[in-house]
Amino acid sequence: MQTLAGTEAKTAAVAGKEDLTRNDLLARVWISVTYHPEAPAFRMLDEKPMSYAELWRRSGVLAQHLMDIRQDTVPVIVLGGKSPEMLCSILACLRSGHAYVPVNISMPSSRVQMMVEELKGACGSAPTILVAAGHAEAAAAGHSEEGALWACDILAASDIPAEPALIPGETERWVSGEATQYIIFTSGSTGRPKGIEVTENDVRHFMQWLETFPAIRERCQTFMDQAPYSFDLSEFELVGALSTGGCLYALSSDATTDFRKLFQEFADSHMDVWVSTPPFADMCLADPSFKETLLPDLKLFLFCGDTLTPRTAKALRRRFPHAIVANTYGPTESTVAVTYCEIDDEMLASGEALPVGYARPGTELQIRRITEPDDPLGEKLPAGQSGEVVIIGDTVAKDYLGLPEKTAAAFFDTTLSDGRPARAFRTGDIGHLDEDGMLHYEGRMGSLIKLNGFRIELGDVENHLAALKGVKMAAVVPVSRHGRISSLKAFVVLDHKGAPEAETPHAIRNRLAETLPSYMIPKSVKVLDEMPLTTNAKIDRRQLAQA
Ligand code: AMP
Repeated sequence: MQTLAGTEAKTAAVAGKEDLTRNDLLARVWISVTYHPEAPAFRMLDEKPMSYAELWRRSGVLAQHLMDIRQDTVPVIVLGGKSPEMLCSILACLRSGHAYVPVNISMPSSRVQMMVEELKGACGSAPTILVAAGHAEAAAAGHSEEGALWACDILAASDIPAEPALIPGETERWVSGEATQYIIFTSGSTGRPKGIEVTENDVRHFMQWLETFPAIRERCQTFMDQAPYSFDLSEFELVGALSTGGCLYALSSDATTDFRKLFQEFADSHMDVWVSTPPFADMCLADPSFKETLLPDLKLFLFCGDTLTPRTAKALRRRFPHAIVANTYGPTESTVAVTYCEIDDEMLASGEALPVGYARPGTELQIRRITEPDDPLGEKLPAGQSGEVVIIGDTVAKDYLGLPEKTAAAFFDTTLSDGRPARAFRTGDIGHLDEDGMLHYEGRMGSLIKLNGFRIELGDVENHLAALKGVKMAAVVPVSRHGRISSLKAFVVLDHKGAPEAETPHAIRNRLAETLPSYMIPKSVKVLDEMPLTTNAKIDRRQLAQA
């Protein structure tokens, strides 16, 4: 394998007048297309792998289509699951100058509609929806045919070029620099999804760090592709694989419910790099055959997004003695992750919670005395003291789409300790730095929680519950097991006593599923006569948590 610097020089010559530096991810994919076109970029069980050449040829067709129908740069919603078309669609957006907004096909259509409204409000024009799934799959998930573009139809109706090539002048259109590369919608406290805009520069800086990781720096590795693309954790594998000539091995969406299939996929994958939240690994560890003989090539476990418990790390190190178990930390607002550390025997023997890592180059972490979210930032605290984690650096995102007040409350411009200007983000996470600069995560300040890696504003669920006909008041509390949130519990007070059929707990959960994604639905719903209140007349969540 040639060095990147060498291939870059040669590729620039091949590209002629095209300015490949405009988008680092696309440039690196193009390098792979040029130097090992037949290498696989995407694989799935029982499906033909998609090579880099094919990824480029097919994404080029979709990019050309997008260029033909839209001259603006309004982001494109890419609706789908794990499929070659999804990957082609994502690349097509970037190649044609549009940020991609990955949305899982299972997302209720009413919530997708809210994202459309948010994008329209912020960008002045409705976004294109590019569906990267079959018609039947989309219909089953309740998405209408109206107004959407269908990647499979466009590809079927087009002549796909025999050779991968740059569309003349395309690099001028590439998403570049401070332009938004992707928007991830997360749960917002008001009941509406909140978009986080991550720029091409942010991804470029994240990518430069990622390629220094063990295994990844060897290039051409196979990455497990499990997290939905709508969850920024998946950028670890998307960016990690595609920027280094590697391959995504996608797990099918039913793999989490069908263990036999999941383990078949594992055996087929020959994956080198594992990326998931810790709860997904816990689920796999429940099966004794989840060990090195199943995944003999595995070199690196990369965790992010939720607490990695010593129990999980110990079990992984025992079952995969040749793999590194690494913990990383970061919110979507700072491009996937900003810390990294490898879990060693000493950490496990200490009996304490595992650290989440040292800051990446280009990021500085500060611990500030906790203040109310709308109040000015508290003073900087020394090593050892707990407070709010503030991230400063070159991967901090641009903003919350169309929400200047929320943006101003959480993001600000500042300088790094060497004087370079940088953007900063108040995470709402509690933690401390030790004398070595290692970050220790201690929990959340507000009502945003993580469940199986998914980020959920409890207020979002509460708003949707309270909007149901017949529901007068609603509260949602997290339920913890083994030091981590394992489910949500909802409490409702109904408009009237003697609830009709439509207001039984079961029916309430079903109705909630019409507007919220499944991971946000509380596991149990309890009907109360009245809500317990604190002396300040606020809902007594502590009491509810114990109920
Ligand atoms: P998301 O934006 O979905 O990636 O969620 C970000 C939040 O997940 C952070 O603000 C933390 O609260 C939590 N988180 C991220 N990484 C870790 C970790 N390694 N351990 C515990 N919590 C984490």
